[in-house]
Amino acid sequence: MKKPSSLHPEKMAVVGAGLVGSLWALMLAQRGHQVDVYERRSDPRIGPAKGGRSINLALSDRGWRALEKAGISEEVRKIALPIEGRLMHAIDGTLTFQRYGLPGAPGLHGDPQCIYSVSRANLNRLLVESAENHTDVNFHFGQKCVHADFQKAELTLEKQSGATDVVSYNRVFGTDGAFSAVRDRMMRSDRFNFEQRYLEHGYKEVSMQPDAESAFKMRSDALHIWPRGEFMLMALPNPDGTFTCTLFAPYAGPNGLDGLQTREQTATYFETHFPDVLPLIPDLLDQWETNPVSSLVMTRCHPWHEGDTACLMGDAAHAIVPFYGQGMNSGMEDCSVLIDLLDSMEHPDQWGEVFQAYTDARKPAGDAIMELALRNYIEMRDKTGDPKFLLQKRIESKLATIYPGRWIPLYSQVTFSHTPYHHALEAGLRQDRIMASILSRPKIEETWDSPEVAQAAIEALEKTH
Ligand SMILES: Cc1cc2nc3c(=O)[nH]c(=O)nc-3n(C[C@H](O)[C@H](O)[C@H](O)COP(=O)(O)OP(=O)(O)OC[C@H]3O[C@@H](n4cnc5c(N)ncnc54)[C@H](O)[C@@H]3O)c2cc1C
Repeated sequence: MKKPSSLHPEKMAVVGAGLVGSLWALMLAQRGHQVDVYERRSDPRIGPAKGGRSINLALSDRGWRALEKAGISEEVRKIALPIEGRLMHAIDGTLTFQRYGLPGAPGLHGDPQCIYSVSRANLNRLLVESAENHTDVNFHFGQKCVHADFQKAELTLEKQSGATDVVSYNRVFGTDGAFSAVRDRMMRSDRFNFEQRYLEHGYKEVSMQPDAESAFKMRSDALHIWPRGEFMLMALPNPDGTFTCTLFAPYAGPNGLDGLQTREQTATYFETHFPDVLPLIPDLLDQWETNPVSSLVMTRCHPWHEGDTACLMGDAAHAIVPFYGQGMNSGMEDCSVLIDLLDSMEHPDQWGEVFQAYTDARKPAGDAIMELALRNYIEMRDKTGDPKFLLQKRIESKLATIYPGRWIPLYSQVTFSHTPYHHALEAGLRQDRIMASILSRPKIEETWDSPEVAQAAIEALEKTH
C-alpha cells in the first residue's frame, strides 16, 4: 500500500544540504514528493574537504536507525570505523580502557555494541549523492536563503553572483544549522521562543598523521581522552589512519586557549599537560598556528514548526555542545520521528497536526540532550580520571549484566537505545542518586562486586518506579 503522504505529492523546499537536510530530502522523495534543496555552499562533492583536514563524527544507534529507514545504512557502514570504548590517558602515561557497550550485548552490523567514527565530509557527500540519485530531488548549491515568507509560501535565494531568485513551495524544512535563516523568520511569529548561549570554552583541531607504515599511531578502536580537569584533549581515529585531535578548553584563565598565542606557549602547554602527544604530532605547532579556534553555541527554540507550512530539524531546532556525540544523531532522529508521523497521516490536510505532534515529541528530547551533553563535558574532562567514577562505571556495567533491561547505564540509554532523551535523562538522574549512596558505603572498593551491593542497588531502583 502506498504511504498516505505519498498519495498527494507536494513541492518541498529543504534549506541546507548538511547531514540532516540531505537525509531528509531523500526520505521525502522516497514518499513521492518533489524536493528542491537549497544550500549556500558549493557542492561538497567538488573540491577537497574544508581546510583539507579530516573532521569526524561519532555515529550511533539513533543515527543508524534513520539511515536504515532511508535504505543507506549499508553504504554508510563501508565508510565507518567501529570505536569500542574510551581510552583515558593519565598525566603519568597510565592508560585505562573503558568499553562503551555492555558485556555480551549485541551491536549493529554484526559488531559488538560500539559507536562509529565517520568523516563528516565523506558522510555528507554520500548523503547528497544518495538523495540526488533520486529523480525527485534537485540540489541547488551556492544558493543562500535570505528570506522566507510563510504566508506566501516563498523563499528568497541569493546566488553567489549576488542575484536573487524567489521560489515557491508547499512546505519548507529548515535544516540550515545553528544559525538557521528559516528559524530567523519564525522568530517574528507570535509566541515563538528562542535562546542562544555560547559555552565559555572553545576548541581547536589538529591532525595526527599515520606512521611510516601508514598505520595508526595509537589504538584505533578507541576514542582517546586526556582528561585534565577544566580542559581535555580528545582524539578520534579516521578510517584513513589519521586521528582528529581536539583540544577543548576555556578561552580565559591559566589553561585557556587565549594564552596559546606563540609557539613557545603552545609547546610548553602540551609538554606540561599532554607529554605523550607531542612526539606523535611532529607538526603540531605549525598546525596550531594555522587552524582556527572555534566556539561552541547552544540554541533552543519553541515551537519547531510554523502552522502547516514550515518545520525545523537538526541544529536549526536544537544546536548542542558536542560532548555526547549526539548532535547529528539527534538530528537524524528528528528525521525518523517526523517520517513515522507522516507515514501515519491519514489525510493530506493533516500537516499541521503532524508538525504539532513532531514539536510535542521532539522539543523535550532536544532540551534533554542539551543538558546531557553539557553534563558529559564535565564527566569527560573531570571525572574520567577519577577512580571513584571509574568504580561507578564498573558497578553499573555489572548491574547491567546481572539485571539486563532493568539497570541500563545512562550512556547506553543515550547511545545504544531509542529511549527518548528526556526519559533517559530522568532514569540517569535516578540511577546517579542510587549510585551516590552505593559509593558512600564503607569499603566499597572491596565489596563493589558482592551480591549484596547489586541487590541493594536494584532494590533501590525498583522502589523509585
Ligand atoms: C566539534 C564538533 C564535534 C561534533 N561531533 C559530533 C559527533 O561526534 N556526533 C554527532 O552526532 N554530532 C556531532 N557534532 C554535531 C554535528 O556536527 C551537528 O549536530 C550536525 O552537523 C547537524 O547537522 P545539520 O544538518 O542540522 O546542520 P549542519 O551540519 O550545520 O548543516 C547545515 C547546512 O545548512 C547550510 N546553510 C546554512 N545557512 C543557510 C542558508 N541561509 N541558506 C542555505 N543553506 C544554508 C550550511 O551551509 C550547511 O551545509 C559535532 C559538532 C562539533 C562542532
